[in-house]
Amino acid sequence: MNIAIASGKGGTGKTTIAVNLARCAALQAPQTSYLDCDVEEPNGHLFLKPRITRTRKATVLVPVIDDTRCVACGECVRFCQYKALVRLGTKVMLFPELCHGCGGCALVCTKDAVTERTREIGVVETGRSGGVRFVHGKLNIGEAMSPPLIRRVLDECKASAVNIIDAPPGTSCPAIAAMRGAGFVLLVTEPTPFGLNDLSLALDVVRELGMPHGVVVNRWQEGSDIAEEFCAKRKAAIVGRLPDSRAIAEVYSRGELIIESVPGMSEWFAELWSVLRGRVRV
Ligand code: SF4
Ligand code: SF4
Repeated sequence: MNIAIASGKGGTGKTTIAVNLARCAALQAPQTSYLDCDVEEPNGHLFLKPRITRTRKATVLVPVIDDTRCVACGECVRFCQYKALVRLGTKVMLFPELCHGCGGCALVCTKDAVTERTREIGVVETGRSGGVRFVHGKLNIGEAMSPPLIRRVLDECKASAVNIIDAPPGTSCPAIAAMRGAGFVLLVTEPTPFGLNDLSLALDVVRELGMPHGVVVNRWQEGSDIAEEFCAKRKAAIVGRLPDSRAIAEVYSRGELIIESVPGMSEWFAELWSVLRGRVRV
């Protein structure tokens, strides 16, 4: 059972929902994993404080052009969708940061001039935090290619267990890489014009991908119906409203789990978990 927690923009409270939901789910499903796919800036560990027990390098395959075989026909350059190869006179140059490691250039080269080497892009760390199995990816500084590392993190999903996937913010390739394959996408928003504008973009994406989804309104204020009106207009189901509360903000700023420190929050997350369980596509 894979549930992705996503948001059209950063700072909406996505990680707050993800880490607390993981802790809540683990009370009922002992094999629950939390997977932080926000590999450029993972922060779930600040709240779950896991004991890391394994660190593995994550690599991608990139091509190596053998100049003694290459005849500069340009076939590989034409094939590469990511503009990672450029022909300069009689040579072909690779820009490794742009290479997605698809292997296509080696396949189209009829001169056997392309071999492959591994390039490290980051690490995947796994560990435990209470009853939660913890996984996150850390992208190397300066590295532009996060989707391959996100896929390595997702490789750690346990097929028959609950996997709470903390997706990167936004609606571009990294967010889609993290959401793809989830049985439900929980979109976290805030009741502001900016928040709802980005929720609109996120709704477009999950609907294009045909994924079951619902909305949590974070920092919800009684009497404000801006989010309700927006979701009614876009026919998006609101599955939870997390109140705007000083107690939550204080606990968050101390790096603690609100489910454990704010009265009423364990019931709130238990209710959310029960709603989600009924909606996840397995
Ligand atoms: S396809 Fe092969 S021979 Fe042609 S430019 Fe690329 S590496 Fe060189
Ligand atoms: S492996 Fe794929 S992405 Fe990388 S240079 Fe070759 S064709 Fe381009």
